[in-house]
Amino acid sequence: MLSGHKPEAMNFVVAFGSYVGLVLVLILLYFMRDLPLFKTGLLGEIRNTLIKVSDLLVPELCWKLLEGINWRLFKQRTMFFQVVYMFLLFLGYFEFVVEVLPFLHYFYEQENHINVPIFNFLTLVTLLVISSISNPGIITEKNVRGHVKYWGTDGLVYWENTQCATCKLPKPARSKHCSLCGHCVFKFDHHCIWTNSCLGGNNYRYFILFLLNNLFFFTYGTWMVMRALGGIIEHMHLWDVKYIDDNDQPQPMNYSILIHHLFMKFPRMVFLAASGIFLDIAVGIFTLFHIMLAFTNQTTNERHRRGFIESVIKRLANTNKNDTHERKTIGNNGLAEIDKNEPIDSVKDNVRLRTKGIKGTEYSNKDNQTSSKRQGKQLVYHHVEELLKKHSSNEILQRLSNNPYDLGFFKNIWSVFFPLTVPGKNSDIY
Ligand SMILES: [Zn+2]
Ligand SMILES: [Zn+2]
Repeated sequence: MLSGHKPEAMNFVVAFGSYVGLVLVLILLYFMRDLPLFKTGLLGEIRNTLIKVSDLLVPELCWKLLEGINWRLFKQRTMFFQVVYMFLLFLGYFEFVVEVLPFLHYFYEQENHINVPIFNFLTLVTLLVISSISNPGIITEKNVRGHVKYWGTDGLVYWENTQCATCKLPKPARSKHCSLCGHCVFKFDHHCIWTNSCLGGNNYRYFILFLLNNLFFFTYGTWMVMRALGGIIEHMHLWDVKYIDDNDQPQPMNYSILIHHLFMKFPRMVFLAASGIFLDIAVGIFTLFHIMLAFTNQTTNERHRRGFIESVIKRLANTNKNDTHERKTIGNNGLAEIDKNEPIDSVKDNVRLRTKGIKGTEYSNKDNQTSSKRQGKQLVYHHVEELLKKHSSNEILQRLSNNPYDLGFFKNIWSVFFPLTVPGKNSDIY
Protein backbone atom coordinates (compact mmCIF):
# COMPACT_ATOMS: atom_id res chain seq x y z
CA MET A 1 0.00 0.00 0.00
CA LEU A 2 1.41 3.41 -0.99
CA SER A 3 0.48 6.46 1.03
CA GLY A 4 1.86 9.64 2.57
CA HIS A 5 3.80 12.07 0.41
CA LYS A 6 1.63 11.93 -2.72
CA PRO A 7 0.20 15.51 -2.92
CA GLU A 8 3.52 17.30 -2.19
CA ALA A 9 5.48 15.06 -4.53
CA MET A 10 2.90 15.47 -7.30
CA ASN A 11 3.06 19.22 -6.83
CA PHE A 12 6.82 19.04 -7.14
CA VAL A 13 6.66 16.99 -10.36
CA VAL A 14 4.07 19.38 -11.89
CA ALA A 15 6.00 22.48 -10.77
CA PHE A 16 9.30 21.07 -12.08
CA GLY A 17 7.70 20.10 -15.42
CA SER A 18 6.06 23.53 -15.78
CA TYR A 19 9.30 25.31 -14.94
CA VAL A 20 11.29 23.29 -17.52
CA GLY A 21 8.50 23.86 -20.09
CA LEU A 22 8.46 27.60 -19.46
CA VAL A 23 12.25 27.90 -19.77
CA LEU A 24 12.16 25.91 -23.03
CA VAL A 25 9.37 28.10 -24.46
CA LEU A 26 11.30 31.27 -23.52
CA ILE A 27 14.49 29.93 -25.14
CA LEU A 28 12.50 29.00 -28.27
CA LEU A 29 10.88 32.46 -28.40
CA TYR A 30 14.29 34.12 -27.96
CA PHE A 31 15.67 32.26 -30.97
CA MET A 32 12.51 32.87 -33.03
CA ARG A 33 12.27 36.57 -32.11
CA ASP A 34 13.39 37.81 -35.54
CA LEU A 35 10.80 35.84 -37.53
CA PRO A 36 8.56 38.16 -39.61
CA LEU A 37 5.59 36.81 -37.60
CA PHE A 38 6.93 38.53 -34.46
CA LYS A 39 7.66 41.81 -36.19
CA THR A 40 4.22 42.88 -37.40
CA GLY A 41 0.70 43.25 -36.01
CA LEU A 42 -0.18 42.56 -32.40
CA LEU A 43 2.76 40.17 -31.87
CA GLY A 44 5.10 42.85 -33.22
CA GLU A 45 3.67 45.38 -30.75
CA ILE A 46 4.12 42.94 -27.86
CA ARG A 47 7.69 42.18 -28.99
CA ASN A 48 8.61 45.86 -29.25
CA THR A 49 7.03 46.65 -25.87
CA LEU A 50 8.93 43.77 -24.25
CA ILE A 51 12.18 45.08 -25.75
CA LYS A 52 11.46 48.60 -24.43
CA VAL A 53 10.51 47.29 -20.97
CA SER A 54 13.58 45.02 -20.80
CA ASP A 55 15.70 48.04 -21.83
CA LEU A 56 14.41 49.90 -18.77
CA LEU A 57 14.57 47.00 -16.32
CA VAL A 58 17.79 45.23 -17.19
CA PRO A 59 20.94 47.10 -16.13
CA GLU A 60 23.41 48.19 -18.80
CA LEU A 61 26.08 45.85 -17.42
CA CYS A 62 23.81 42.81 -17.94
CA TRP A 63 23.24 43.78 -21.59
CA LYS A 64 26.97 44.07 -22.14
CA LEU A 65 27.52 40.72 -20.46
CA LEU A 66 24.74 39.10 -22.54
CA GLU A 67 26.13 40.64 -25.69
CA GLY A 68 29.62 39.41 -24.83
CA ILE A 69 28.32 35.85 -24.29
CA ASN A 70 26.22 36.00 -27.47
CA TRP A 71 29.25 37.23 -29.42
CA ARG A 72 31.57 34.56 -28.03
CA LEU A 73 29.14 31.68 -28.50
CA PHE A 74 27.28 32.48 -31.71
CA LYS A 75 29.33 34.97 -33.71
CA GLN A 76 32.70 33.31 -33.50
CA ARG A 77 33.97 29.79 -33.93
CA THR A 78 34.11 28.10 -30.54
CA MET A 79 34.57 24.56 -29.26
CA PHE A 80 32.20 25.30 -26.36
CA PHE A 81 29.25 23.35 -27.81
CA GLN A 82 31.43 20.40 -28.79
CA VAL A 83 32.66 20.20 -25.19
CA VAL A 84 29.05 20.47 -23.93
CA TYR A 85 27.95 17.73 -26.34
CA MET A 86 30.78 15.39 -25.31
CA PHE A 87 30.12 16.08 -21.62
CA LEU A 88 26.39 15.30 -21.98
CA LEU A 89 27.15 12.21 -24.05
CA PHE A 90 29.55 10.89 -21.39
CA LEU A 91 27.11 11.79 -18.62
CA GLY A 92 24.22 10.02 -20.39
CA TYR A 93 26.37 6.97 -21.05
CA PHE A 94 27.69 6.96 -17.45
CA GLU A 95 24.16 7.16 -16.04
CA PHE A 96 23.09 4.35 -18.37
CA VAL A 97 25.95 2.10 -17.19
CA VAL A 98 25.54 2.89 -13.48
CA GLU A 99 21.76 3.17 -13.16
CA VAL A 100 20.15 1.17 -15.95
CA LEU A 101 22.55 -1.61 -16.91
CA PRO A 102 22.41 -3.49 -13.54
CA PHE A 103 18.60 -3.74 -13.81
CA LEU A 104 18.79 -4.86 -17.46
CA HIS A 105 21.30 -7.58 -16.50
CA TYR A 106 19.09 -8.67 -13.62
CA PHE A 107 15.75 -8.74 -15.46
CA TYR A 108 16.94 -9.82 -18.94
CA GLU A 109 20.15 -11.72 -18.15
CA GLN A 110 20.29 -13.67 -21.43
CA GLU A 111 20.44 -10.45 -23.51
CA ASN A 112 23.58 -8.48 -24.42
CA HIS A 113 23.24 -4.83 -23.40
CA ILE A 114 26.87 -3.85 -23.86
CA ASN A 115 27.75 -4.07 -27.57
CA VAL A 116 25.11 -1.77 -29.10
CA PRO A 117 25.65 1.20 -26.69
CA ILE A 118 29.46 1.00 -27.00
CA PHE A 119 29.33 0.74 -30.80
CA ASN A 120 26.80 3.58 -31.00
CA PHE A 121 28.84 5.73 -28.62
CA LEU A 122 31.98 5.26 -30.73
CA THR A 123 30.20 5.98 -34.03
CA LEU A 124 28.76 9.18 -32.53
CA VAL A 125 32.17 10.45 -31.45
CA THR A 126 33.71 9.45 -34.80
CA LEU A 127 30.97 11.15 -36.84
CA LEU A 128 31.19 14.30 -34.72
CA VAL A 129 34.95 14.45 -35.33
CA ILE A 130 34.59 13.77 -39.09
CA SER A 131 31.80 16.36 -39.47
CA SER A 132 33.92 18.88 -37.55
CA ILE A 133 37.26 18.50 -39.29
CA SER A 134 36.31 17.53 -42.84
CA ASN A 135 36.36 20.13 -45.61
CA PRO A 136 32.77 21.37 -46.01
CA GLY A 137 33.53 22.30 -49.64
CA ILE A 138 35.59 25.46 -49.39
CA ILE A 139 35.65 27.46 -52.61
CA THR A 140 39.16 28.37 -53.67
CA GLU A 141 40.71 30.12 -56.63
CA LYS A 142 41.55 26.69 -58.03
CA ASN A 143 38.11 25.10 -57.94
CA VAL A 144 35.81 28.11 -58.29
CA ARG A 145 35.41 27.87 -62.08
CA GLY A 146 34.22 24.28 -61.84
CA HIS A 147 31.75 25.18 -59.09
CA VAL A 148 30.33 28.08 -61.11
CA LYS A 149 29.56 25.63 -63.92
CA TYR A 150 28.29 22.86 -61.66
CA TRP A 151 24.82 23.84 -60.39
CA GLY A 152 24.14 26.86 -62.60
CA THR A 153 22.10 29.96 -61.76
CA ASP A 154 18.32 30.20 -62.03
CA GLY A 155 18.15 33.99 -62.38
CA LEU A 156 15.81 34.23 -59.43
CA VAL A 157 17.39 32.84 -56.26
CA TYR A 158 20.91 32.84 -57.70
CA TRP A 159 22.21 35.17 -60.37
CA GLU A 160 25.09 35.06 -62.81
CA ASN A 161 28.32 37.02 -62.43
CA THR A 162 28.11 37.70 -58.71
CA GLN A 163 31.15 37.95 -56.53
CA CYS A 164 31.84 37.31 -52.84
CA ALA A 165 32.58 40.71 -51.30
CA THR A 166 35.09 39.15 -48.87
CA CYS A 167 36.83 36.38 -50.86
CA LYS A 168 36.74 38.45 -54.09
CA LEU A 169 35.99 35.25 -55.98
CA PRO A 170 33.03 34.52 -58.29
CA LYS A 171 30.07 33.28 -56.28
CA PRO A 172 28.76 29.92 -57.55
CA ALA A 173 25.03 29.23 -57.31
CA ARG A 174 24.02 27.60 -53.97
CA SER A 175 27.23 28.78 -52.26
CA LYS A 176 27.46 31.21 -49.36
CA HIS A 177 30.18 33.03 -47.50
CA CYS A 178 30.41 32.01 -43.82
CA SER A 179 31.42 35.05 -41.78
CA LEU A 180 32.43 32.85 -38.83
CA CYS A 181 34.83 30.66 -40.82
CA GLY A 182 35.81 33.34 -43.35
CA HIS A 183 35.33 31.37 -46.57
CA CYS A 184 32.73 30.54 -49.22
CA VAL A 185 31.32 27.02 -49.22
CA PHE A 186 29.63 25.24 -52.12
CA LYS A 187 26.05 24.04 -51.55
CA PHE A 188 26.19 25.79 -48.16
CA ASP A 189 23.63 24.54 -45.66
CA HIS A 190 24.42 26.29 -42.37
CA HIS A 191 27.18 26.90 -39.86
CA CYS A 192 26.68 24.29 -37.14
CA ILE A 193 27.58 25.21 -33.54
CA TRP A 194 27.74 21.53 -32.52
CA THR A 195 30.36 20.63 -35.13
CA ASN A 196 31.95 24.09 -34.97
CA SER A 197 32.16 24.15 -38.76
CA CYS A 198 30.22 24.96 -41.89
CA LEU A 199 28.00 22.24 -43.29
CA GLY A 200 28.23 22.24 -47.06
CA GLY A 201 28.15 20.01 -50.09
CA ASN A 202 31.15 17.97 -48.96
CA ASN A 203 30.40 17.16 -45.30
CA TYR A 204 26.60 17.28 -45.20
CA ARG A 205 26.54 13.47 -45.61
CA TYR A 206 28.45 13.01 -42.34
CA PHE A 207 26.10 15.41 -40.61
CA ILE A 208 23.02 13.44 -41.77
CA LEU A 209 24.62 10.22 -40.47
CA PHE A 210 25.53 12.02 -37.23
CA LEU A 211 21.88 13.11 -36.78
CA LEU A 212 20.57 9.61 -37.51
CA ASN A 213 23.05 8.12 -35.03
CA ASN A 214 21.97 10.61 -32.36
CA LEU A 215 18.37 9.66 -32.99
CA PHE A 216 19.22 5.97 -32.65
CA PHE A 217 21.22 6.64 -29.46
CA PHE A 218 18.33 8.50 -27.77
CA THR A 219 15.70 6.02 -28.96
CA TYR A 220 17.71 2.96 -27.91
CA GLY A 221 18.66 4.54 -24.55
CA THR A 222 15.06 5.58 -23.79
CA TRP A 223 13.74 2.16 -24.79
CA MET A 224 16.26 0.42 -22.51
CA VAL A 225 15.39 2.69 -19.54
CA MET A 226 11.71 1.96 -20.18
CA ARG A 227 12.41 -1.77 -20.18
CA ALA A 228 14.39 -1.49 -16.92
CA LEU A 229 11.51 0.45 -15.33
CA GLY A 230 9.06 -2.11 -16.78
CA GLY A 231 11.10 -4.87 -15.11
CA ILE A 232 10.95 -3.04 -11.79
CA ILE A 233 7.16 -2.54 -12.10
CA GLU A 234 6.70 -6.21 -12.84
CA HIS A 235 9.15 -7.39 -10.15
CA MET A 236 7.53 -5.22 -7.46
CA HIS A 237 3.99 -5.99 -8.72
CA LEU A 238 3.29 -2.25 -8.69
CA TRP A 239 0.09 -2.59 -10.73
CA ASP A 240 -1.40 -4.76 -7.95
CA VAL A 241 -0.60 -2.21 -5.24
CA LYS A 242 -3.33 0.06 -3.87
CA TYR A 243 -2.66 3.64 -2.82
CA ILE A 244 -4.41 5.78 -0.20
CA ASP A 245 -6.06 8.86 -1.67
CA ASP A 246 -6.73 12.24 0.04
CA ASN A 247 -9.89 10.82 1.66
CA ASP A 248 -7.95 7.88 3.15
CA GLN A 249 -9.61 5.48 0.71
CA PRO A 250 -7.59 2.69 -0.99
CA GLN A 251 -7.58 3.18 -4.78
CA PRO A 252 -6.31 0.95 -7.61
CA MET A 253 -2.99 1.97 -9.19
CA ASN A 254 -3.06 4.37 -12.14
CA TYR A 255 -0.36 5.76 -14.50
CA SER A 256 -0.05 9.10 -12.74
CA ILE A 257 0.62 7.53 -9.30
CA LEU A 258 2.89 4.90 -10.84
CA ILE A 259 5.09 7.52 -12.57
CA HIS A 260 5.19 9.63 -9.41
CA HIS A 261 6.22 6.59 -7.35
CA LEU A 262 8.97 5.64 -9.83
CA PHE A 263 10.15 9.26 -9.90
CA MET A 264 10.52 9.29 -6.10
CA LYS A 265 12.30 5.92 -5.97
CA PHE A 266 14.42 6.11 -9.15
CA PRO A 267 14.67 9.84 -9.98
CA ARG A 268 17.78 9.55 -12.15
CA MET A 269 16.29 6.78 -14.29
CA VAL A 270 12.98 8.61 -14.79
CA PHE A 271 14.87 11.83 -15.57
CA LEU A 272 16.98 9.89 -18.10
CA ALA A 273 13.83 8.52 -19.77
CA ALA A 274 12.15 11.96 -19.83
CA SER A 275 15.30 13.59 -21.30
CA GLY A 276 15.51 10.78 -23.87
CA ILE A 277 11.90 11.35 -24.99
CA PHE A 278 12.43 15.12 -25.20
CA LEU A 279 15.69 14.74 -27.19
CA ASP A 280 14.07 12.13 -29.43
CA ILE A 281 11.30 14.56 -30.35
CA ALA A 282 13.60 17.60 -30.79
CA VAL A 283 16.33 15.76 -32.74
CA GLY A 284 13.67 13.75 -34.59
CA ILE A 285 12.00 16.90 -35.97
CA PHE A 286 15.38 18.39 -36.92
CA THR A 287 16.48 15.13 -38.60
CA LEU A 288 13.20 14.83 -40.54
CA PHE A 289 13.66 18.39 -41.78
CA HIS A 290 17.17 17.61 -43.06
CA ILE A 291 16.05 14.32 -44.62
CA MET A 292 13.32 16.27 -46.45
CA LEU A 293 16.01 18.72 -47.67
CA ALA A 294 18.23 15.85 -48.82
CA PHE A 295 15.35 14.09 -50.65
CA THR A 296 14.43 17.29 -52.51
CA ASN A 297 17.97 18.64 -53.09
CA GLN A 298 17.52 21.82 -51.07
CA THR A 299 19.62 23.49 -48.38
CA THR A 300 18.60 25.38 -45.23
CA ASN A 301 20.28 28.48 -46.65
CA GLU A 302 18.26 28.21 -49.89
CA ARG A 303 14.99 27.94 -47.98
CA HIS A 304 15.83 31.11 -46.00
CA ARG A 305 16.83 32.86 -49.20
CA ARG A 306 13.62 31.85 -50.97
CA GLY A 307 11.57 33.00 -47.97
CA PHE A 308 13.32 36.38 -47.96
CA ILE A 309 12.90 36.84 -51.74
CA GLU A 310 9.23 35.90 -51.43
CA SER A 311 8.70 38.54 -48.73
CA VAL A 312 10.50 41.15 -50.89
CA ILE A 313 8.34 40.32 -53.93
CA LYS A 314 5.15 40.61 -51.89
CA ARG A 315 6.26 43.83 -50.23
CA LEU A 316 7.31 45.48 -53.50
CA ALA A 317 4.23 44.22 -55.36
CA ASN A 318 1.98 45.62 -52.61
CA THR A 319 3.72 48.98 -52.62
CA ASN A 320 3.50 49.01 -56.40
CA LYS A 321 -0.25 48.50 -56.20
CA ASN A 322 -0.70 51.23 -53.57
CA ASP A 323 1.56 53.96 -54.82
CA THR A 324 3.74 53.96 -57.92
CA HIS A 325 5.60 57.07 -56.76
CA GLU A 326 6.58 55.41 -53.47
CA ARG A 327 7.81 52.41 -55.38
CA LYS A 328 10.27 54.59 -57.30
CA THR A 329 11.58 55.92 -53.99
CA ILE A 330 12.12 52.39 -52.72
CA GLY A 331 14.00 51.64 -55.91
CA ASN A 332 16.56 54.22 -54.93
CA ASN A 333 16.94 52.96 -51.44
CA GLY A 334 15.74 49.42 -50.80
CA LEU A 335 17.33 49.31 -47.38
CA ALA A 336 15.38 52.32 -46.16
CA GLU A 337 12.27 50.25 -46.82
CA ILE A 338 13.66 47.32 -44.85
CA ASP A 339 14.48 49.65 -41.95
CA LYS A 340 11.08 51.35 -42.12
CA ASN A 341 9.39 48.01 -41.69
CA GLU A 342 11.62 47.00 -38.84
CA PRO A 343 11.61 50.04 -36.55
CA ILE A 344 13.08 48.20 -33.61
CA ASP A 345 15.63 45.62 -34.50
CA SER A 346 16.48 42.65 -32.33
CA VAL A 347 17.59 43.14 -28.73
CA LYS A 348 20.95 41.88 -29.88
CA ASP A 349 21.34 44.70 -32.42
CA ASN A 350 20.19 47.34 -29.94
CA VAL A 351 22.88 46.15 -27.59
CA ARG A 352 25.38 46.11 -30.40
CA LEU A 353 24.77 49.78 -31.02
CA ARG A 354 25.18 50.59 -27.35
CA THR A 355 28.34 48.59 -26.85
CA LYS A 356 29.81 49.49 -30.22
CA GLY A 357 33.41 50.56 -29.95
CA ILE A 358 33.88 49.22 -26.44
CA LYS A 359 35.71 46.15 -27.55
CA GLY A 360 37.43 47.76 -30.51
CA THR A 361 38.29 45.44 -33.36
CA GLU A 362 35.95 42.63 -32.32
CA TYR A 363 32.94 44.86 -32.70
CA SER A 364 34.15 46.56 -35.85
CA ASN A 365 34.49 43.04 -37.23
CA LYS A 366 30.88 42.45 -36.24
CA ASP A 367 29.84 45.69 -37.92
CA ASN A 368 31.45 44.38 -41.10
CA GLN A 369 29.38 41.19 -40.83
CA THR A 370 26.19 43.24 -40.41
CA SER A 371 27.04 45.62 -43.23
CA SER A 372 27.76 42.81 -45.72
CA LYS A 373 24.41 41.21 -44.76
CA ARG A 374 22.69 44.54 -45.46
CA GLN A 375 24.47 44.82 -48.79
CA GLY A 376 23.21 41.32 -49.64
CA LYS A 377 19.65 42.33 -48.77
CA GLN A 378 19.94 45.47 -50.88
CA LEU A 379 21.15 43.42 -53.85
CA VAL A 380 18.10 41.14 -53.55
CA TYR A 381 15.84 44.20 -53.49
CA HIS A 382 17.33 45.65 -56.66
CA HIS A 383 17.26 42.30 -58.43
CA VAL A 384 13.60 41.68 -57.57
CA GLU A 385 12.74 45.20 -58.75
CA GLU A 386 14.32 44.45 -62.10
CA LEU A 387 12.34 41.20 -62.38
CA LEU A 388 9.09 42.97 -61.48
CA LYS A 389 9.57 45.30 -64.43
CA LYS A 390 9.36 42.34 -66.82
CA HIS A 391 7.10 39.82 -65.02
CA SER A 392 4.05 39.87 -62.79
CA SER A 393 4.57 39.09 -59.10
CA ASN A 394 2.39 35.96 -59.40
CA GLU A 395 4.55 34.70 -62.25
CA ILE A 396 7.72 35.19 -60.19
CA LEU A 397 6.18 33.63 -57.08
CA GLN A 398 5.13 30.64 -59.18
CA ARG A 399 8.71 30.24 -60.43
CA LEU A 400 10.00 30.63 -56.88
CA SER A 401 7.90 27.71 -55.68
CA ASN A 402 9.67 25.37 -58.14
CA ASN A 403 13.05 24.04 -57.07
CA PRO A 404 15.25 24.03 -60.21
CA TYR A 405 17.86 21.84 -58.48
CA ASP A 406 15.50 18.92 -57.89
CA LEU A 407 17.02 16.06 -59.92
CA GLY A 408 14.58 13.38 -58.79
CA PHE A 409 14.66 11.28 -55.63
CA PHE A 410 17.63 8.97 -56.36
CA LYS A 411 19.91 11.61 -57.89
CA ASN A 412 19.13 13.93 -54.98
CA ILE A 413 20.22 11.29 -52.46
CA TRP A 414 23.23 10.52 -54.63
CA SER A 415 24.22 14.19 -54.65
CA VAL A 416 24.27 14.20 -50.83
CA PHE A 417 26.42 11.09 -50.40
CA PHE A 418 28.56 11.43 -53.53
CA PRO A 419 28.70 15.20 -54.12
CA LEU A 420 30.07 16.41 -57.46
CA THR A 421 29.58 13.01 -59.07
CA VAL A 422 25.84 13.24 -59.72
CA PRO A 423 25.01 11.15 -62.81
CA GLY A 424 24.57 13.42 -65.80
CA LYS A 425 26.21 16.43 -64.10
CA ASN A 426 29.55 17.99 -64.85
CA SER A 427 31.91 16.68 -62.19
CA ASP A 428 35.15 18.14 -63.51
CA ILE A 429 35.84 20.43 -60.57
CA TYR A 430 38.99 19.48 -58.74
ZN1 LIG B 1 33.45 34.39 -49.56
ZN1 LIG C 1 31.24 28.37 -40.97
